[in-house]
Amino acid sequence: MEKNKKPLLLYNANYYLDNTFKKGSILINNGKISKISENINIDEVEIEKDYELINCDSLALVPGFIDSHMHLPGDYLYRYYGLNLTTKHSFEEYIQAIKDIKSKSLSIIRGFGWNQNIMDSKGIEGFRQIKELIDKLFPNEAFILYSDDYHSCICNQYLLNKYTPVRSYDYSLAKVGLLEEEDIFQIQKQLRELTFSNEEIRDAILKYQNMLLSLGITGIQTLMFLGGDNHREWEILKELDKNKELHLNVNLALTIHPTDKKDEIYDKLSWLKNFESEKIKINTIKIYIDGVVENKTAFLSEPYEDSSETGDYLWEDEDLNEFCRFVDKNNLQIHAHAIGDLAVHLITKALCNAMDLNKSKKKNRHVITHLQIANEEDIKLMGEYGIIANIQPYWIPIGGYYPLDEKHIGNRVKDEYKVNSFFKNNVIVTASSDSPVTQYPYPIFGISNAIFRSNLNEKSSFSDMLNAFTYNGAYQLGREDEIGIIKEGHKADLALLSTIPNMNSIEEFEDTKLLMTISDGEIVYSL
Ligand SMILES: [Zn+2]
Repeated sequence: MEKNKKPLLLYNANYYLDNTFKKGSILINNGKISKISENINIDEVEIEKDYELINCDSLALVPGFIDSHMHLPGDYLYRYYGLNLTTKHSFEEYIQAIKDIKSKSLSIIRGFGWNQNIMDSKGIEGFRQIKELIDKLFPNEAFILYSDDYHSCICNQYLLNKYTPVRSYDYSLAKVGLLEEEDIFQIQKQLRELTFSNEEIRDAILKYQNMLLSLGITGIQTLMFLGGDNHREWEILKELDKNKELHLNVNLALTIHPTDKKDEIYDKLSWLKNFESEKIKINTIKIYIDGVVENKTAFLSEPYEDSSETGDYLWEDEDLNEFCRFVDKNNLQIHAHAIGDLAVHLITKALCNAMDLNKSKKKNRHVITHLQIANEEDIKLMGEYGIIANIQPYWIPIGGYYPLDEKHIGNRVKDEYKVNSFFKNNVIVTASSDSPVTQYPYPIFGISNAIFRSNLNEKSSFSDMLNAFTYNGAYQLGREDEIGIIKEGHKADLALLSTIPNMNSIEEFEDTKLLMTISDGEIVYSL
């Protein structure tokens, strides 16, 4: 794409500020918003002669979107250099795709994207069939296939022979080949060959970045890198930044497990600090409190419908409290995965306790992500202590519920994904896709789910949701003084939409197109 070096003037724009669209012209110079003029007469705007004019009449200008929980580079490494099942929609298609990959003669087969709802139609027998097939087709090559939520993977015997699982399973691994939860991290730690090559990683990051820019996204909080080794990918990211090829503001995070040593955290973090620049920041520790509803590992206060189990709690109370206190004291941000109501309760308590002891209420902007089920008292505490609710509005059901959720948690599905309760209790809400879990992370579609949902009590307003995807996201990333709002002196990271989103119907709303993305004052995408 040809790069504009000239200053830009976006004139006659409907630009978003203070929960509404205002009419004005935006002058962009040296990567920043240098002037906002309510006066739409371009002759009266003081500018240099040499500028590029963009007529924004009837268009809408919003801050570049911020996706505050996702996984760089999505599933792109698997899509381009492995096996991708996210586009397959039945067990039979999975089997066919596995057979087809044989012809590519890869020395190692790395795959992603099978779905628990689809596998559930076959039960454990489905896993047995896949295991038998991959053992037959790939007797001398490693084969690993992750689920689309990245909480499970299917491995062939060749790979299992090299690995010692940390979890215990109530089925024979030799017959079923299915690993879950902690084993996902362990297997990647132990077997470095699961990492893709530098060239593949670089290519996937750039392709994925282009996809995000084409959706108006200019800032991300990225968690675990899918297909990396927690080293290589950061080197590559730093190099891309040095070569001016990085157009996203990227906040990285260090993932910590309950068994990791505290001093190791510090060593790793100070090593990661070498990668910081204007575009790359690291100040976040990611932890998991529980698993997911699909695996019946989300931690609930009441048992799952079809069993007496309540799910997994990955910590001991005392360790979690101490860990939160330690991280908070060191002015780092905790980003905690919690899905079940009891998991949300325990991490909320631990964070509040840490902030009480450190006298640091609202200071370090801790985040709880997913919050699929949460109770009112915890939501109130989150508001009071400034704990950010990071939600994935793409997953809010518009009509009906996910079959597997309904099967596992029954009536509780009606209470899932409270969004308005957070806003009502003054919780700072940020929004994200958890890409690649969400395959098409266009914020307009996420906002649409939150405002057109069938549960009217939890329906949100457009401006609340747009703020979640812009200003609040910047706040979570600690960048609200540079991005997330259209303001003089801020970076010119902007998204130009085809219209002010029309709230008449879901169809009209979702017809809002992304026309142009500007990052650091440079047009990095245009339709
Ligand atoms: Zn995630």
